[in-house]
Amino acid sequence: MNQIDLKNRRILVTGGAGYIGSHVVKALGEAGAEILVYDNLSTGNASAVLSGRLVVGDLADTVLMKKTVESFRPEAVIHFAASIEVGESVSRPLKYYRNNTVNALNLLEVLRACRVDQMIFSSTAAVYGEPELIPVAEQTPLDPINPYGASKMMTERLLADLSAADPDFRYVALRYFNVAGADPQSRIGQDYKNPTHLITRALKTALGVFPQLGIFGRDYPTPDGTCIRDYIHVDDLATAHLVALKHLMDGGDSDIFNCGYGHGASVAEVVEVARTVTGVDFKIVDEPRRDGDPPELVARCQRLRTELGWQPEHDDLAYIVKTAWDWELELQKRQESAG
Ligand code: UDP
Repeated sequence: MNQIDLKNRRILVTGGAGYIGSHVVKALGEAGAEILVYDNLSTGNASAVLSGRLVVGDLADTVLMKKTVESFRPEAVIHFAASIEVGESVSRPLKYYRNNTVNALNLLEVLRACRVDQMIFSSTAAVYGEPELIPVAEQTPLDPINPYGASKMMTERLLADLSAADPDFRYVALRYFNVAGADPQSRIGQDYKNPTHLITRALKTALGVFPQLGIFGRDYPTPDGTCIRDYIHVDDLATAHLVALKHLMDGGDSDIFNCGYGHGASVAEVVEVARTVTGVDFKIVDEPRRDGDPPELVARCQRLRTELGWQPEHDDLAYIVKTAWDWELELQKRQESAG
């Protein structure tokens, strides 16, 4: 068990009403933290904030942000608020550099002015681009292939430069691999307007929301020809944030960690698990490769375990898909009762 006591520790969470942020807020609440969520609700939901207080605000609004930080006086910040669609980042790069890089800079300026000097940053495996060596280790040179990955890489660079210049400031950047699954009690989960992720699309196909699931390429150099990804349950990812926070609070150095399980599943394997979990033999169709998809992306992730003591509890694709499926059923129920 990753038992971490955060009783009365004040933590500011930007983007805490979103998918990953809300699971981290849940875990922070269970650890006893005092939480303030700062979120503009552009993609998040107020009802997803299970613990603490919500301030509806934008990271571009530095006046409100400063007022919020000054009155809450957090010990640390966990920064999620960002735009996350790879495809959209290609067509609207400026939106990504503004939301993910410029707004992170705004936040850092406010934090420095208010003497808040610990941050957990939500980064991504997209900073690696198409790595040659799998599993990919943290020291692999960064070479993102889309503006989303580049915007996150630039923020990592901001953090590195700031902590080098100002030793009081320390951060941990967590590079997420493929995050999936939901709260086992179905209180929160992924709720994107345009879901693009494989597991969500497979489950929505099983529900009949989509008529069929496209398999984007069967000619990759992998055992079954489909792409391999390292799927991590969102609650295990949440725990990674808590151990990273503890590391900083205990005086640990700035660092960067991959977040995955260190092994992958192929698209075809995910489809099989989704069919078994849902009991629906939903239709699949072969489609061309999607631009910018590396054949295999699996984390080298020992450091998170050995150096921070992270202990994953849900390294099981069937569990990941089952919790996501229960959440999809819950979402459907909520939508029906809302008319
Ligand atoms: N994928 C697919 N059909 C879909 C969505 C995704 O075949 O409808 C594939 C995609 O090409 C990739 C894998 O599933 O190889 C995981 O994609 P996802 O968008 O879930 O995450 P990513 O790895 O791009 O972050």
